[in-house]
Amino acid sequence: MSSSLRFKVVEEAFSRKAVHVEIPSERPQEYYGKYVFNRRKMFEYLPKKTYQALINAIDNKQTLPRDVADSVAEGMKRWAIDNGARHYTHWFQPLTETTAEKHDGFIEHDGKGGVVEEFSGKLLVQQEPDASSFPSGGIRNTFEARGYSAWDISSPAFIMDNTLCIPTVFISYTGESLDYKTPLLRALTAVDRAALPIARYFDPDVKHVISYLGWEQEYFLVDEALYSARPDLVLTGRTLMGHESAKNQQLEDHYFGAIPSRVEAFMLDLEIESHRLGIPVRTRHNEVAPNQFELAPIFEETNLANDHNMLLMSLISEVARRHNFRVLLHEKPFAGINGSGKHNNWSLGTDTGTLLFAPGKTQEDNLRFITFVSIAMAAVYRHNALLKASIMSATNGHRLGANEAPPAIISIFTGSRLAAVIDGIISSNSEDLLQLSKKQEVNLDIASIPDIMIDNTDRNRTSPFAFTGNRFEFRAVGSSANCGSAMIALNTAVAEQMQRFHGLVETRIANGEDLHHAILAVVKEFLIESQPIHFDGNGYSDEWKAEARRRGLDCETNIPRIFDAYLSKSSVEMFTSTGVMTKVELEARNEVKWEMYTKKIQIEARVLGDLAINHIIPVATRYQSILLDNVFKLKTIFEGEKGAELAQPEVATIESLAKHIKVIRSEVARMVDARREANRITSEREKAIAYHDTVAPCMDVIRYHIDKLELMVDNEMWPLPKYRELLFIR
Ligand code: ADP
Ligand code: MG
Repeated sequence: MSSSLRFKVVEEAFSRKAVHVEIPSERPQEYYGKYVFNRRKMFEYLPKKTYQALINAIDNKQTLPRDVADSVAEGMKRWAIDNGARHYTHWFQPLTETTAEKHDGFIEHDGKGGVVEEFSGKLLVQQEPDASSFPSGGIRNTFEARGYSAWDISSPAFIMDNTLCIPTVFISYTGESLDYKTPLLRALTAVDRAALPIARYFDPDVKHVISYLGWEQEYFLVDEALYSARPDLVLTGRTLMGHESAKNQQLEDHYFGAIPSRVEAFMLDLEIESHRLGIPVRTRHNEVAPNQFELAPIFEETNLANDHNMLLMSLISEVARRHNFRVLLHEKPFAGINGSGKHNNWSLGTDTGTLLFAPGKTQEDNLRFITFVSIAMAAVYRHNALLKASIMSATNGHRLGANEAPPAIISIFTGSRLAAVIDGIISSNSEDLLQLSKKQEVNLDIASIPDIMIDNTDRNRTSPFAFTGNRFEFRAVGSSANCGSAMIALNTAVAEQMQRFHGLVETRIANGEDLHHAILAVVKEFLIESQPIHFDGNGYSDEWKAEARRRGLDCETNIPRIFDAYLSKSSVEMFTSTGVMTKVELEARNEVKWEMYTKKIQIEARVLGDLAINHIIPVATRYQSILLDNVFKLKTIFEGEKGAELAQPEVATIESLAKHIKVIRSEVARMVDARREANRITSEREKAIAYHDTVAPCMDVIRYHIDKLELMVDNEMWPLPKYRELLFIR
């Protein structure tokens, strides 16, 4: 684009007004879930027997009999058509971080030359999408392209864009998972099973333990005119160049500041649409960086919460377009200002309504509380490398370890109240424990946790994993990620430690110890062993990096190597013993991770090379020519020393321009060579490492010099919208 075009799009963006939003005349409770085939719609559209069979299958996690499926399909179709749907799709979550759909019309031949609207139980329950183009890490090689999608009845169908969407798992012909949902469901089952006997120590009526997730989605908004004038944003989701704006977030005036009216209209629209789709969005506000915002729903059961997050990520982009915005879900769209994360608030609760990480009013409540806290700590400690791998990606890598994000080392922040309880238990001798277990006076402060705990937490924003009153907040998750990845690793790790905990307690009981004493002794053991993961200090400091290394925590920063943690002995053991993933699945998924990493860097490198050579250098040399012309004229009019002196500043600028141009050219050439070299490598892992070690660093150098040029070249000539134009919505 030419600079005049840049001015045109800036003007277009800055003169835009808020788009009017039609506010429904009903109250939210009336339109909430309008487009969801929830229990109320099921009751309305299904024959009574079908309804009961379906609810029974959902509640008891059973498979749906085929004749019931046919009847469900018929009712679902009627509901969908009543609500304007013409197509249906199996909606699934392949390993590409987005959702996939293949739309089919409801129509079938009627045998009389016309069509009828049909939808059978078979099509509802299982399909064979031509899935050869989804990443499978080699599980499904191209001549065996079959993969199955199968309905996840625990997540209700919904209508979006006049299409009935049926949440499904996506598995290979031979049964391996090719998506996030399958292992997530397995992990949730594992945690339910493993937690149950422990939860029953405290409440014999518990039948299920449920994992909860409340995500907080951060994102940036950019005006669409400006967005489309930045090929790097369009093609890679982030700016590959751009000098910092003179003003960015120093004044911290954006956070909780007034929301611009255009954005407010967008948020309102999004909220209404979310509610119609049954996504319980509740809070919205500005974030720290300019143009950065957040939205969060009320927490839900983890599988449903994750589906809702995936759905929201599609919805948000669609609604943003109606308001002439583009949403950036990338973790680090702009250098020098905060990136975006997706805090995963995670907890466990019983079907009897107890949150297991919530302190209670009695000693027994608090014994339950510290039991589950100690298990979570042991799990995060044992699998800290894996948990880091679970949130790592080419895009999130830009955010982690930078000075505003959780560091690339996993640790747990507890806050001082919980820390005191932990220390109390660790330093107690067996006599204290015995006393405590008999619920007598020896007070380790456990009973006094309840009230103070809540406001004492959440102060430490530098921690990647923080206790926040009745839950843990996994903050290292990236804004563009499928939360499933983090939730699979975390819930499985916890399930494994629960199995261990239960085994140890049972052994003690078998040896004659009473229940509470046995529990406390194992709690103490778990707390002691997981001490290294507990860190309440400043996670951004260099001292912490050194200290973490001393404590034996995983400090790897090389992204492709971080993925190795999935294949470590302890990870394979954990995933297989809990039935969540087989070794073959783990290996295949890592192939996909490495491949995706390589592709992301490859695309960025191509885009940057193109922008540097075809957009930036031509402009810089043109500007250089103008200066040269000026120097020439100065020297013609003012001869001799005077001319040289007058032209000196321009000459210096010309030299400086030439230097930057030269480095950019040579670095682009080096980057192309590095790519060529890396592409020859056949191992996906080695290739990704080569991209990380040899291609990515060139990009930093190129950017540095382009950003210098941006400061030197005439503003009138600069072709790409600048940070100051991209970042401040009016
Ligand atoms: P913040 O962390 O910014 O203070 P909130 O207190 O509003 O924000 O909570 C953030 C998210 O945590 C919300 O999605 C909320 O529903 C969720 N949340 C609250 N309690 C729990 C819980 N026990 N388990 C899981 N998520 C929870
Ligand atoms: Mg939070």
